[in-house]
Amino acid sequence: MVQALSPGELPEEHRQPEKSDEWQQNLNVRLICRECRDDPPWLVEDHASGDMVCGECGLVLQERSIDQSSEWRTFSNDDQGNDDPSRVGDGPNSLLNGAQLNTNIAFGDGGMRSNDLYRANNKSNVDKGNKQLLQAYKQIGALCEGWQLTPSVVDTAKHLYKDADESRLFKGKSQEALIAGCVFLACRRNNVPRSFREVMELTKVSKKEIGRTFKLLENFLMKREKVREGQTSMLAGGVVVALDTYKGSGTADPGDLCARYCSMLDMDQKAANVATLLAAKTNTTGSLAGRSPLSTAAACIFMAGHLMGQPKTAKEIQAVAGVSDSTIRHAYKLMWNDKEKIITEEILSRGADPVKLPRPS
Ligand SMILES: [Zn+2]
Repeated sequence: MVQALSPGELPEEHRQPEKSDEWQQNLNVRLICRECRDDPPWLVEDHASGDMVCGECGLVLQERSIDQSSEWRTFSNDDQGNDDPSRVGDGPNSLLNGAQLNTNIAFGDGGMRSNDLYRANNKSNVDKGNKQLLQAYKQIGALCEGWQLTPSVVDTAKHLYKDADESRLFKGKSQEALIAGCVFLACRRNNVPRSFREVMELTKVSKKEIGRTFKLLENFLMKREKVREGQTSMLAGGVVVALDTYKGSGTADPGDLCARYCSMLDMDQKAANVATLLAAKTNTTGSLAGRSPLSTAAACIFMAGHLMGQPKTAKEIQAVAGVSDSTIRHAYKLMWNDKEKIITEEILSRGADPVKLPRPS
């Protein structure tokens, strides 16, 4: 630091900021009974009720204390290996049936009879329902991982699967189709919609089959949700999804698809925004009425690419959207005819240049 000094003045000493003491645990705070004020206190932990009680007068000083003692007694310390045997198992998993309070005998460690016990326990105690659920969850997890979906989508899909499985409505239906339907619906509920075609490619279940299962699944869920209509939100995989944002039986929104496909085509955010705006506008003008959301999105991307000077050919768009290039060109022709209405001031203000649009063939 440079200081300007007048003659005879002494430089001001640098004042060091006071060093704050490092944080320390305050060991002077101790729990004593506020009635007897005995020091040292006589505290008794009652594990059965989870209370901390004063041994002198019986006043409860702490409720719901966490029991940190061992969950079982160990008699031999030599055959444990390195694991800590004082804790057992996981918390209850709401995705499985029951509270999972059954006894499991570990394979391996222990005395000579433990393997026999393990086998006998396994034979008598197979929970078939849970095994099937676990198998399905594994499949759902693998599918969602292929798409790099967030855990909330995975959890939603699992919850949907469990609800559907419990309803017994889908007995005899193909397991793959039900899983595909759950993943499809979970994506839609979490606002990351995928098309039937994409689900079909991932699961190898036919589009027709997915569609049929999906309709059944949605009918079942809508019926159930009508019961709790008074509530404003539902819990989906730990995330509160407002019911009004869930677009019931509506179809995929072309705007949502535009954003994702533009990113897959390496178009920048500006072009993606224009494509989304075009999709919203064609929806209100009705220029592409009756077209599927996929072909609407594809045509909007085609137009947005040319408007923003990042043209993509119909073939390139076909590769990501899975719509044939002739369909894209036909939809584009319809948009071209309405281009005065579709290309709004807002789109022009974002740098769109209608001169760059090619004439439809
Ligand atoms: Zn006391």
